[in-house]
Amino acid sequence: MHKKALVLFSGGQDSATCLAWALDRYEQVETIGFDYGQRHRVELDCRITVLQNLRDAFPHWAARLGQDHLLDLGLLGQISETALTADKVITFEQSGLPNTFVPGRNLIFFTFAAAVAYRRGISVLVGGMCETDYSGYPDCRDDTLKSLQVTLGLGLDQRLVIETPLMWLDKSQTWVMAKSLGGPGLVEIIRRDTHSCYVGDHSTLHAWGYGCGKCPACELRAKGFDAFARAVI
Ligand code: ZN
Repeated sequence: MHKKALVLFSGGQDSATCLAWALDRYEQVETIGFDYGQRHRVELDCRITVLQNLRDAFPHWAARLGQDHLLDLGLLGQISETALTADKVITFEQSGLPNTFVPGRNLIFFTFAAAVAYRRGISVLVGGMCETDYSGYPDCRDDTLKSLQVTLGLGLDQRLVIETPLMWLDKSQTWVMAKSLGGPGLVEIIRRDTHSCYVGDHSTLHAWGYGCGKCPACELRAKGFDAFARAVI
């Protein structure tokens, strides 16, 4: 029944792994990304590289990989003054959330993705949200996304499934999933070609990928890759 999927593909480790997961399962897979004035806009360039390298390295996936959609959501940068969209130091706020939290971001992303999916005859949306070792963003929670699935399905009067294959995995288990889906070749594409660093530092390639090595996204990625590499050895 559900043969076509639209993957929310930012250019980071998690969404690249989700893209491989979807390519392994669905007959047709399209991708969607958002330009919202993020400081780490370099991830948008990484999207193109990852898509091309996946096509080259995995011909059976290339046959399934369809259109890529890039939406301009600059208004999200206008309405939120956060460390993800403005040149601010990353700190924790009184709410307990880091100031990289862009309020409503995933709700907006999924709503626009659903509109594109509707037009394209796609019934599955795939996102790399995770509740295991995350920053506490409330719009990454399983309950939020299950509720959104119901809301979008009702609002479009069409059955819509939101799949979040990483929801209960930690970052090292996400690398394990990548390896099981595409072997060392996929692990290397994700390590070398994706971008997770919040401040957009893409100057140094570490063992775990590019990044500043200090922001919360880099710390999580480095810790996860280290645990994965030690387990593999
Ligand atoms: Zn960083």
